[in-house]
Amino acid sequence: MLRSGGYSALLRTAFTGALLVAGFAVVSCAGDSDKADANGKVTVVYQDNTIKPQDRQAVAVIRKSRVLEQAADWVNKSVALPHDLVVKVTAKVPPGVTDAVTQPDGRTIFVPPPFLTQIQGVLSNVVKTVERPALFPEAEFNADDLTALSTQFIFGHEMGHALQRQLLLPNLGLEEDAADGFASFYTVNEVGPGPSLAAAILFDELAREEGKLTLEGLSSDHPVTQQRVFNFLCYLEGSDPKRFYGPLVGAGYLPKTRAPLCPQAWAMLDYGWWTQLKPHFSEAFKDQGDKTQENARDQLIAETKAFEKQIDKLRSEQ
Ligand SMILES: [Zn+2]
Repeated sequence: MLRSGGYSALLRTAFTGALLVAGFAVVSCAGDSDKADANGKVTVVYQDNTIKPQDRQAVAVIRKSRVLEQAADWVNKSVALPHDLVVKVTAKVPPGVTDAVTQPDGRTIFVPPPFLTQIQGVLSNVVKTVERPALFPEAEFNADDLTALSTQFIFGHEMGHALQRQLLLPNLGLEEDAADGFASFYTVNEVGPGPSLAAAILFDELAREEGKLTLEGLSSDHPVTQQRVFNFLCYLEGSDPKRFYGPLVGAGYLPKTRAPLCPQAWAMLDYGWWTQLKPHFSEAFKDQGDKTQENARDQLIAETKAFEKQIDKLRSEQ
């Protein structure tokens, strides 16, 4: 994930560049989110006849993994969407689209097959050149499993955009940060550590390939790629420090200077998303969702108190 000495910052790729297109295209659907007809459903469609032979293998990996369908199922179960959302795995994309993108109205997510092939190519290189973090299971440290898991995280990011746009969620920071946050929130709670770890492994390699940080990279509406790696790891570590401090901080993947902030950061993210979604819970999920939101609030209060106890010590150590 991180090579020795590697807390270096690096620059952007076509990868982040195309996500940026989605990030810029924020168009509200104000007035549309009438909850009375909030019965939109998420569906996943594979447009096989558009997929080129060289992309069929990567698409087969994603289809078999069912990572897109799992996220769709979770949203369908938990959230009352005002509109349908169609996830299209297709080579028939709008002009200029090369990466996974969410349309401004939040009603379509495009997953272009060449993008999946690109991820698989990067990860094929990773498994040959990067030492496996001990926390990541040996049986899954192969290009196919890493591709499925990192796509699960990336798709979580796009689903975050779709929820923001459809539900017109109030945002207190950059939308791209919130989309990354939803990817962490959804995968850490519903899947486990795999997607965050795989995404960190992928983005770390992308950052390395990007090379030196440029003004273009710094001016992106996304955090710079290497920073996203640490954000993914921070939320994961903060979600269960007893389990993850040793393998992530002790093993040198997440700096000791960042780690003390992570439990509260996770608690804030978790409470933030549950609270954002609460007015939009489906009838079937409402009781469970309300309880989970209350627990997340208690957890945030507890983590903030715990952080308060440490703060003088942490500051004086810096
Ligand atoms: Zn985005």
